[in-house]
Amino acid sequence: MPKPRVIYWFRTDLRLHDSPALQAALDLKPECLYPIWTWDPHYVYRARVGPNRWQFLLDCQNDLSKSITRLNPKSKLLLIREAPQTLFPKLFKEWKITHLVFEKDTDAYGRERDDEVKELAKQAGVEVVIRPGRTLYDSDELVKANHNKPTMSMSQVQAAGAKIGDIVRPIPAPKSLPDPGPTNLSFKQQKPASSPDINAIQRDAEEQSYNALAGPNNDFAVPTMEELGLNPATTPHRGGETIALKMLGDIIANEDYTATFEKPKTAPTAFEPQATTLLSPYLHFGALSCREFYWRAQDIVSKYRGKASQPPVSLTGQLLFRDMYFGAQAALGYAFGQTYNNPRCRFIPWHLPSEIDPSSGRITGRYLVDSAQAETFFKRWQEGRTGFPWIDALMRQLKLEGWIHHLGRHAVACFLTRGGCYVDWERGAEVFEEWLVDHEAACNIGNWQWLSCTAFFAQFYRCYSPIAFPQKWDKDGDFVRKYVPELAHFDSKYIYEPWKAPIADQKRWACLVKGDGTEAGDGTLKTYPKPMFDFATQREVCMQGMKNAYQVGLYGNDAKVLDGTWRKL
Ligand code: FAD
Repeated sequence: MPKPRVIYWFRTDLRLHDSPALQAALDLKPECLYPIWTWDPHYVYRARVGPNRWQFLLDCQNDLSKSITRLNPKSKLLLIREAPQTLFPKLFKEWKITHLVFEKDTDAYGRERDDEVKELAKQAGVEVVIRPGRTLYDSDELVKANHNKPTMSMSQVQAAGAKIGDIVRPIPAPKSLPDPGPTNLSFKQQKPASSPDINAIQRDAEEQSYNALAGPNNDFAVPTMEELGLNPATTPHRGGETIALKMLGDIIANEDYTATFEKPKTAPTAFEPQATTLLSPYLHFGALSCREFYWRAQDIVSKYRGKASQPPVSLTGQLLFRDMYFGAQAALGYAFGQTYNNPRCRFIPWHLPSEIDPSSGRITGRYLVDSAQAETFFKRWQEGRTGFPWIDALMRQLKLEGWIHHLGRHAVACFLTRGGCYVDWERGAEVFEEWLVDHEAACNIGNWQWLSCTAFFAQFYRCYSPIAFPQKWDKDGDFVRKYVPELAHFDSKYIYEPWKAPIADQKRWACLVKGDGTEAGDGTLKTYPKPMFDFATQREVCMQGMKNAYQVGLYGNDAKVLDGTWRKL
């Protein structure tokens, strides 16, 4: 019986430690093991990925490749620039592959792609081995244990988890890896058909990145940002399993922090260092195993017994939230990402006429926020020039660094949707998708739904004030001074409401509060925009809209506007 020839397909698991799928590949005792990463066009071109997340991915790939080579000097991560759906049939043949092994992916697109690849493997007589490893519980198992329903609350996750049993303990990284075998590629590269929804920059990048199957030097190397035609990253956060394990080790070494961590008590205004772990991007790329994280934290919690914090606020509770959103997505598929056709997402008629007669469904009122105004609010929010320094500081940190604290995300998401601008959560989720280094479809979508009170959470009367909330954490406004340097010299009294400062003081502090943030200063005097609305008034407008929408009680897949009337279908 010839020995297996295996492709190990890295995707959501850019690590060597605690990888059940990699272990399954090694358990086959292969003659050769090809560790590859394919150019998935969905990720590379269609998804919104800003330079910061790209850099993070390349860091993770470089680090992984080095680690592979440390275990076997003849091996490394082989970057192949073609879509898996067209690449695999050729690769199976060329490298005489018997097995394809990868970590399970329950993202909507991931499932579709993997089903296609499984079918291609079947046609080629290649056996496919898949193992879960991306979440604490296999998301499909979690859904099954939740009566085949999406997990929409922490108590559902905990009850379903209890039925499944203990979260599996992590396994160590392998000590050695087999040789990869010959890496000849005699076939032609197949480019994806250009999609009309990609822009010119993406199309250029597509051309450049497809310049050769194995890269410009034909060595399967991880590309550089320049080679991809991308702008340099601006984030200080760098990727890779090595950094992730070091960060986790430092966190766990602080046993008090680990055992008593309570999310609501961590400061969203803290920076250098931030108040939470900042391990999310490593979890996203699988550079850190969530089960490694969970058990290292849980073992400390067990030592502290009654003195340790508990889910949902504890560190382990945070990881359970992550599983909750993965479970919701696994059950709902593509529908999870939108309001339309999503049976679990409440329909809110964002910036459309919102005063509705609940008995007839007829629009009786005016536009709460009309479309043009909503567009302006959205743009100013995105560009960090709302005139509310707390919101602007967060949005600028997000764009520059790709990460903001969870409560900061709460603040900007609430402000854009039901607590300020009354703009659809899907618009905000798209901005986060592009800018976050930790963008995780399930977590991003789920949290946006939570914050906009369209799913998971319904207390829409609880709103974040862009003034009182940050004041609680950071009286002097150090966070604002860092990310909105125009206001660096403002007195603490005015740091969250600069428009209230007397003009003479504004001049003294070298910044005038005027305009909408698009006009340049005059060299010595900078400018900072006036607030784009009166927050108290706008909050009431939003509250009224939410109240009306909740009264009508329509959900995404059964609401439609017909002749000016919201109708339940
Ligand atoms: P810690 O507090 O140290 O938590 C440890 C880990 O638990 C995190 O790394 C993360 O994996 C997980 N976690 C913590 N809170 C949550 C949560 N509420 N939901 C899901 N997982 C959680 N998280 C993402 O990983 N990707 C996203 O795209 C994302 N988008 C978000 C969008 C909005 C509008 C909001 C409000 C939250 C979003 N979150 C997202 C959740 C959360 O804000 C981040 O996971 C967290 O801030 C990451 O920082 P940390 O690693 O220091 O978290």
